[in-house]
Amino acid sequence: MFIYNFSGSIQMVKDVLIIGAGISGLIAGRKLQERGMTVQLLEKSRGPGGRMSTRWMEDGKIDHGAQFFSARTSSFQEVVDEWVSLGVAKCWFGEGVRKDGGGRSYCGVPYMNAIPRLLAQELDIKTHWTAERLVFQEGVWHVSSKEGEIVKGRSLLITSPVPQTLAILERSSLSLSHEDEVLLSSIKYGSCFAVFGWLDKAPAIPAPGLLEQPNEDIARIIDNVQKGITTRPSVTIHASASFTSRHLDEERVVVGERLLEAAAEYLSSMDRETMRVHRWLYSRPKQTVDGDGFLQLKGSGPLYVAGDGFASPTVEGAVLSGLSVADVIYADTQD
Ligand SMILES: Cc1cc2nc3c(=O)[nH]c(=O)nc-3n(C[C@H](O)[C@H](O)[C@H](O)COP(=O)(O)OP(=O)(O)OC[C@H]3O[C@@H](n4cnc5c(N)ncnc54)[C@H](O)[C@@H]3O)c2cc1C
Repeated sequence: MFIYNFSGSIQMVKDVLIIGAGISGLIAGRKLQERGMTVQLLEKSRGPGGRMSTRWMEDGKIDHGAQFFSARTSSFQEVVDEWVSLGVAKCWFGEGVRKDGGGRSYCGVPYMNAIPRLLAQELDIKTHWTAERLVFQEGVWHVSSKEGEIVKGRSLLITSPVPQTLAILERSSLSLSHEDEVLLSSIKYGSCFAVFGWLDKAPAIPAPGLLEQPNEDIARIIDNVQKGITTRPSVTIHASASFTSRHLDEERVVVGERLLEAAAEYLSSMDRETMRVHRWLYSRPKQTVDGDGFLQLKGSGPLYVAGDGFASPTVEGAVLSGLSVADVIYADTQD
């Protein structure tokens, strides 16, 4: 189906528009495209990956979002095995390392964002494209960007963290059923500061390079050399939930200094020129919705919401959510 826009050029109506090119949006997009559907992803950041994020630094790349993932289900283990065989993931460590008892844990190769980058390769993704408003008109979704560009599709999937999804729905004046509104509003996220940068010598982190909850301010410290993603000594520090909520609105550089002080026992000095502090406002859902891994919103055209908030607060949850919503979107279009 083609539609002429006002400038007279032809604009294609895609089968599916996906807001968010994090791992759930990418997995869903790939699966729908493999089944012959036309898909357009819309991503507000400069590249795909969302919270599976890596910062390009002088002298190397450092992961500052998700650090590792495990497979609790055979469906996700199959996905992970494929990533390993394609050379974008490896087993970082086995059982008995993590405090939560989590089993074998994997990381991206050569860095976490390599996984979403590989998945993105054959997908049509508009980056630096923030979805502002949604309108369903004459059987077609019209999604407009901050800059006023409009893309069109018959089905719409939103995979942003749920508070951001609610903000898009609110800006669009789309009325939700009471049940959907209560459910979406119940998904709350924790925040997390990440501090990372180069050190002058190796940190005192035991093998295999992960130290969890050494004190009440720190959730984990990762030695990136032991993890195998940098050759120059470097760490990524994730703050605890209580530290993050106490310092949420403080200046980044002050937060960085506080966390380095909390980690001082384990680190030599960090090069302050390269120290980076990132605030993940929506780090991981504190509780998720039990169900099918996604929600189909009632009341307008085909509109689905998915992501880790609808499964489990992990890479695995986001992948399983993307897989199940893709199945349903495809099945719904075959009716
Ligand atoms: C600090 C941290 C540590 C973590 N540690 C682990 C861990 O150890 N193990 C584990 O398994 N998981 C971990 N996670 C969680 C894991 O990263 C997430 O569960 C998973 O990546 C979520 O994927 P997603 O696709 O659901 O969402 P996201 O990755 O958030 O993707 C959503 C995308 O939507 C985009 N977006 C938002 N609004 C708009 C808009 N208006 N228009 C266009 N695009 C938009 C965002 O830019 C983003 O790219 C961690 C996360 C963080 C932040």
